[in-house]
Amino acid sequence: MSEDDYCLIDASKPPKADGPPYAECVLCREPTEYPESYKGITMCPRCEWLEAQRTACSG
Ligand SMILES: [Zn+2]
Repeated sequence: MSEDDYCLIDASKPPKADGPPYAECVLCREPTEYPESYKGITMCPRCEWLEAQRTACSG
């Protein structure tokens, strides 16, 4: 068992899909890594990263 692995889990993120169909990115309509059945905000890795940067730099 490794506590490092546990710390990588972010509870605020939806689960990764095992395969298609993937949900569309709400920003650029690109396929995300998340299942289409996921109800909520889904963003592709690129938009997710951009959003993280924006949030980190706000203020
Ligand atoms: Zn996107």
